[in-house]
Amino acid sequence: MKPNIDHANDEDISEQLERYRNLALISTDWFWETDKDFVITYMSASVERITGFPKEKYIGVSRHDLASEETKQTAEWKEHLELVSRHEPIKNFEYKHVGDDGFTLYLRINAIPLFNDDGSFRGYLGSTSDISELVLARKHVEDVNKELGVAKEAAEKLARQDPLTGLYNRRAFFEHGAAIDDMVQRYGQLYSIVMLDIDHFKNVNDSYGHAVGDLALTSIASLMKKHARTSDIPARIGGEEFAIILPQTEMSSAVNLAERLRQAVEETSFAFENGEFFITVSLGVTECGESSCSVEEVILRADKALYQAKEQGRNRVVQLGID
Ligand code: GH3
Ligand code: MG
Ligand code: MG
Repeated sequence: MKPNIDHANDEDISEQLERYRNLALISTDWFWETDKDFVITYMSASVERITGFPKEKYIGVSRHDLASEETKQTAEWKEHLELVSRHEPIKNFEYKHVGDDGFTLYLRINAIPLFNDDGSFRGYLGSTSDISELVLARKHVEDVNKELGVAKEAAEKLARQDPLTGLYNRRAFFEHGAAIDDMVQRYGQLYSIVMLDIDHFKNVNDSYGHAVGDLALTSIASLMKKHARTSDIPARIGGEEFAIILPQTEMSSAVNLAERLRQAVEETSFAFENGEFFITVSLGVTECGESSCSVEEVILRADKALYQAKEQGRNRVVQLGID
């Protein structure tokens, strides 16, 4: 293929050449031509604006020798060399050019192969653009997107987390409940719920202050985390009310967990000034093993069991099965 300068008229040709020369001069890209061995035979003066080297530095040099050792090792450059050896057009080939002086540029190359009248390969005619700003802008957008993703994840986590105890909050608890409800309907899997409420917690606040009350809440949350399995979902669903969803767990196992938790709280001493105090908790336990029982129904029943534990004297576990 020959550059397309159509008009035979000498005046036209010199006018066109003048135009191309000027375009090459004002362009931020640079233009080049190679022979069949990829040795550069022409380089536009505009190359100096970007690389800092005059065009003469490039004439007589193989295009392939211009790539740094680092570039030569990359898969994209090796692929590029294969394409060039097949004398195919180079379309938007982008690569990182690291100069010998460590100067880095991101370049984009477009070029067409040139052929003699007998069809033999004559070389390439191409243009190179410095796309460093574009690549940096792309990277910046990527970084910002990544940061946004991390921030979004953190925000989502916060929206589902109780800030005092780090347990799931009420909203997350009910979301989990709905998801588990769905599992029950689909696969008929059972689950249990444990509800926990601190006994006479108002007295703790009144006697030792709200801050000490908060410490007691965090301690109970830690005990819940310690005693629950990783598949369980412990949550703080109210001021001093907690709940745990135990997926695929029968009521008897849930009662065991509730009892262990009750004992652990009972045995935990809370420091206050020079003394210590103890608290107790009441727990209600129920299960759902039928496709018809919704999470609302199960929570209501667990609440009912908890209420009975309070009525029966607190510091105890009451279980309520399906009627
Ligand atoms: P019961 O044994 O019947 O559950 O008695 P109670 O005193 O625990 O129950 P009540 O509902 O009368 O009082 C709950 C108390 O919990 C009142 C409130 O000040 C306290 N509380 C709720 N949320 C928090 C909190 O975030 N921090 C602290 N320190 N106290 C809280
Ligand atoms: Mg309460
Ligand atoms: Mg209470």
